Amino acid sequence: MSTTTRAAVVESGGAPFTLTAVELAEPGPHEALVRVVATGLCHTDLGAASGGLPFPLPGVLGHEGAGVVEAVGSAVTGVVPGDHVVLSFTSCGECRNCQGGHPAYCATWLPLNLIGGRRADGSSTISRDGEPLGGHFFGQSSFAERALVDERSLVKVDPDVPLESIAPLGCGVQTGVGAVWNVLKPRLGDTIVVLGAGAVGLSAVMAAALTPATRIIAVDRVGERLSLAKELGATHTVNAGEADLRETLAVLTDGQGADGIVETTGNVGVLRQGADALAARGTLVVVGAPPFGSEVALDVNGLLPGKRIVGLTLGDSETQSFIPALVQLVKEGRLPLHRLITTYPFADIDQAVRDMSAGKAIKPVLTF
Ligand SMILES: [Zn+2]
Ligand SMILES: [Zn+2]
Repeated sequence: MSTTTRAAVVESGGAPFTLTAVELAEPGPHEALVRVVATGLCHTDLGAASGGLPFPLPGVLGHEGAGVVEAVGSAVTGVVPGDHVVLSFTSCGECRNCQGGHPAYCATWLPLNLIGGRRADGSSTISRDGEPLGGHFFGQSSFAERALVDERSLVKVDPDVPLESIAPLGCGVQTGVGAVWNVLKPRLGDTIVVLGAGAVGLSAVMAAALTPATRIIAVDRVGERLSLAKELGATHTVNAGEADLRETLAVLTDGQGADGIVETTGNVGVLRQGADALAARGTLVVVGAPPFGSEVALDVNGLLPGKRIVGLTLGDSETQSFIPALVQLVKEGRLPLHRLITTYPFADIDQAVRDMSAGKAIKPVLTF
């Protein structure tokens, strides 16, 4: 039986989000119907809504959902109705990287999550007046009161933790945390630089503060964000609008360079400066995504002292173990995610978009 729900539909690239009644398909064997309680807003949603990604519009976005399971398909074993879940990305579960514990590098990641708008078998999950809409965004399309969710997007979580406080774990937060914990793995005394103090960058700062890195340097152009970075664990901050980044990082690292850098801005000029600021054997993690086709020039000889530049998707996390651990840290107050979150009623989604675009809200979370 299909379900009618209210979703924020984007009619075409650049159009606003419009709350509209839509039909969700009956859950397939590996799907669940989830009552959405909260969902975070991420720049990837805005990129798709602007028409900057080949996601089919009209469609329903949203990929940081959190809610309560209402019904499950016949083959779902991990959750039952009533369970609290955080929704994350999906993956095929069968390819080499999925089998190896790296589902963010699934062979079919892009069509399954970002641009396909349909299930893997090509069928649609959402329709309106009998016409299919783009859906299945990150296996969830959670800008809606109810979402039809792929089993592999579901992560069961502790029901004692308020869902609006953990919805962003599904994308932005696990990306920033994973950059530090899964890739950089700081050693005692390391210097970590975080380029960009948005939701992903500040998550990286919080994660770095839980490691033996002794210097954590946050870089941004917004003073307020740098102040927040300090409260969340940065030992130093650099306002890139006021100071020369290259020189300042050289001074702060005693001329040694940074052992680990997380690039979250998606600006290739900043990426280049980060590459130049690496210490010998240092690693720069590229998290920020510039427009498709962007290239960057590198000083090849500068890389020879063992420097590494690696790309990262969704923190390279195994969501089923990673997200519950983060929920535990939130519950204990050791990952103070609430400092990043501003909540908005679902109906105010366009206000949330405006505030995020203007830099007024770091991580808007829509509540239902
Ligand atoms: Zn995202
Ligand atoms: Zn796979």
